[in-house]
Amino acid sequence: MIQLFLPLNFLGFAYREIRRALTDLENMLGLLNTSPKVADSETAQPLALKNGAISFENVSFSYDSKRPILKNVSFHVNPGAKVAVVGASGAGKSSLARLLYRFYELSSGAIKIDNQAINTVTLASLREAIAIVPQDTVLFNTSIRENIHYGRPSASEDEVNKAINMAHLTDFINSLDKGDKTLVGERGLKVSGGEKQRIAIARAILKQSPILIFDEATSALDSQSEQAILNAMREVASNHTSIVIAHRLSTITDADTIIVLKAGEVLEQGKHDELLMQNGEYAHMWTLQQKQSKAAIN
Ligand code: ADP
Ligand code: MG
Repeated sequence: MIQLFLPLNFLGFAYREIRRALTDLENMLGLLNTSPKVADSETAQPLALKNGAISFENVSFSYDSKRPILKNVSFHVNPGAKVAVVGASGAGKSSLARLLYRFYELSSGAIKIDNQAINTVTLASLREAIAIVPQDTVLFNTSIRENIHYGRPSASEDEVNKAINMAHLTDFINSLDKGDKTLVGERGLKVSGGEKQRIAIARAILKQSPILIFDEATSALDSQSEQAILNAMREVASNHTSIVIAHRLSTITDADTIIVLKAGEVLEQGKHDELLMQNGEYAHMWTLQQKQSKAAIN
């Protein structure tokens, strides 16, 4: 009956705005060619956030019901803890992040935040609680500053500046004639993969969600910038629950738990030292990467 009270052209406007925001988000997460069939259940309640504990309970998932992508994945993340997910490309790491954001429904099992299954809470409240730095960020067709501000539109100018600083974007922005007003995106300035990642990190920092997901968020940075950003991320994540998907193991040795994913299954989980002692897949990956980095230096 809402139509009776709102002019039709307003509804059209609202619809277009919502559509655009969704497209932006899907675009940003590299999901434009997928059709998420996810919606609020009729009895959905807003997520009652306590301290951001996350659990995956026997989660199985496939995109097309033929090929299983995740198989019986279980793990628990304590409030404020940092969990790292590692494993070969194609193991299912990004899929796991997308499921937590509820871009797809599970085939079976449950994902819970503070003991509430995510398919029983409203999508808006779920996504409000999570900031994600995706593997491949797509920037919106607007200024660098607006791209960051989008993380939390109600943030003050000072807060935006602080996020810019923490993501180590100040020197880059100062090197541009138009500074943070410089247009980026498809028709704007072409920025490097590393700069794009830092813009996405600033956006996530600004969002100040209790749960943070970094999906290979520093993979395009050189090791020096990576260290600087990792330090900033540690500071931001210090009282947040975080899931860090990493390729370079040297960046996650401090994680509270490391999950080793192989072909959609949890092969090993534990702390860095424990996993080295087990002398399994993680230890093998570690030795290999140590050799590679030594070879790169010599
Ligand atoms: P990782 O992040 O560990 O490299 P992904 O979660 O991206 O792995 O992918 C796991 C598997 O799921 C891969 O085999 C990939 O090809 C497949 N996959 C990823 N996204 C889609 C999609 N949108 N539709 C169908 N298959 C997909
Ligand atoms: Mg991935």
